[in-house]
Amino acid sequence: MPYITVLRRYLHPCISHGYSNNDYRNNFDEERYVMALRKPFVAGNWKMNNLVGESLALVEALKPLVAGVAAVDMAVCPAYTSLHAVGKALAGTNIQLGAQNAYVKESGAYTGEISPKMLLDVGCAWTIIGHSERRHILGEADAFLNEKLRFSLACGLKVMFCIGELLEERKDGKMESVLERQVVKGLEGMTAADLDNVVIAYEPVWAIGTGETATPDQAEEVHVFVRNLIDKSFGADAASKMRIQYGGSVKPENASDLISRENVDGFLVGGAALKADSFAAIINACA
Ligand code: PEP
Repeated sequence: MPYITVLRRYLHPCISHGYSNNDYRNNFDEERYVMALRKPFVAGNWKMNNLVGESLALVEALKPLVAGVAAVDMAVCPAYTSLHAVGKALAGTNIQLGAQNAYVKESGAYTGEISPKMLLDVGCAWTIIGHSERRHILGEADAFLNEKLRFSLACGLKVMFCIGELLEERKDGKMESVLERQVVKGLEGMTAADLDNVVIAYEPVWAIGTGETATPDQAEEVHVFVRNLIDKSFGADAASKMRIQYGGSVKPENASDLISRENVDGFLVGGAALKADSFAAIINACA
């Protein structure tokens, strides 16, 4: 990652928020001095792919390729059926385990659902909530996603919370209002402290699995917009600490340009996470 990006990413919130020197001096308060350490976070969303044997082969191939990487947090999110085996294979490594979804109850008569407690039991640290495929194919709405997010956090999971606009929404000039609705309603009722365990994944729906990627400028523009939304609702410290991943056809070829932008803090990767060498190359681009 270029040195200047590293400097900006780790600067004090007053500086990274673009306040003037005088504002910075006037606002300086040693008690509130927090280093906005946003370590890049790259996660692979395997979706409904890979039998258990294939999942194990993939993580075994990945482990040596990223074993030396300490500067990037990383996770893989296999299908439910592979979680237990992959969790065991990842024990003691620098790769964390995530699920792709979680339900809003601890246990009981909820046929087909999986609880956060069950995910923790097989070694998950993370779950994805609000992926566009769940919003648009499975019809999960903002209020339900907010419930899922809050319940997962309450149970001890960390959450990658996905947001993103459809192509028609972007073309119709509705992108900002859609993203604002998803962020405000998704994070409703939460505190700044809750956000310590949340990462936002900006995934424009038109870029997911299409081969079409947002340009670094498009991603940066949206990430700044989202960070400002967090600032408005939760304050400057929470905003400066919030990691915002980009997702949508990330590949080894575009990862370096995207991660070089100040507000792009990592990636949620679909297709390219299904091959150990391409996923490792994306992780290494962030190191
Ligand atoms: C995703 O589904 O989260 C995703 C970003 O997919 P892809 O990288 O394949 O576009």
